[in-house]
Amino acid sequence: MTVPLHPFATLPAGWRTRFAPAPTGHLHLGHAVNAVYVWGLARAFGGQVLLRMEDHDRTRSRPEYERGILDDLDWLGLVPDIGDTASFRVGSHPQRQSDNAARYEAALEQLDHAGLVYACDCSRRDIAQEVPDVFGEEMRYTGRCRERGVDRSAARARRVVMSPGAEQFDDLRLGPQAQEPEDQCGDLLVRDRLGQWTYQFAVVVDDMEQGVDVVIRGEDLLKSSGRQIRLGRLLGRGRPPLFLHHPLLIKPDGSKLSKSAGDTGIRELRAGGATAASVLGQAAALAELVEPGRALPADALASLFVET
Ligand code: GLU
Repeated sequence: MTVPLHPFATLPAGWRTRFAPAPTGHLHLGHAVNAVYVWGLARAFGGQVLLRMEDHDRTRSRPEYERGILDDLDWLGLVPDIGDTASFRVGSHPQRQSDNAARYEAALEQLDHAGLVYACDCSRRDIAQEVPDVFGEEMRYTGRCRERGVDRSAARARRVVMSPGAEQFDDLRLGPQAQEPEDQCGDLLVRDRLGQWTYQFAVVVDDMEQGVDVVIRGEDLLKSSGRQIRLGRLLGRGRPPLFLHHPLLIKPDGSKLSKSAGDTGIRELRAGGATAASVLGQAAALAELVEPGRALPADALASLFVET
């Protein structure tokens, strides 16, 4: 077993986690691994799964990808407790990010009233040339526009001040973590110059608004958690969510599976004659939660985490 289960057993009934795909491509086996953890842990320990469409990136999100994701979830038998797939097909939705600009506006205004927001006109080139700080693989923003008094027109990006200091949390799989957002990324971009809300901002506002207690996602997002805890704190979230970061699927060449790279898509597996149970079994085996070759219907996912 790769996940210490004790913390889940102590959560109050009805605790909430979420499955939050970005409709910038179709579902692939990496999503199925995430779903195995999300639905498996929720079903094993009395939690609820909320479905959220993370289409904050307006240039890459497409309605046909959203429809494809909903179809694949239905086919896999993965039923959300909050935000059923049919409710997404009928029109605007409280859990689709592009339908909720007012929610992000209000959160930005709240931070602005607290004096934490400034406009930024740095181009990509400015950031690459004048902001040479690099933290690991990340480019850190040094706060070039913090005191420049850039005009606050809609065409300017917005950043939120990240003061020094660490955010500490216990990852439910990886143990104690300490991250310093100010060192990692500097002042956080929350809206870009096209008016698009950034992933970091939208996800924090949504997790807070939608009562998400446990964030279950891949290790690639581990480094985002400290800044998300910080943003939540600045927005007045009393207790941050718990976090579980699970291993990512790695291809034989060492690269990560990603939907845009045309990796093993659920729709291709479907077209090739796979059953839903075989796909979920394959995902659970890739996560090393079961031995390969086992079929696992959606209603058996709890058995990965408790004796049923
Ligand atoms: N929307 C992100 C993705 O599809 C997941 C974000 C998250 O879990 O915080 O990778």
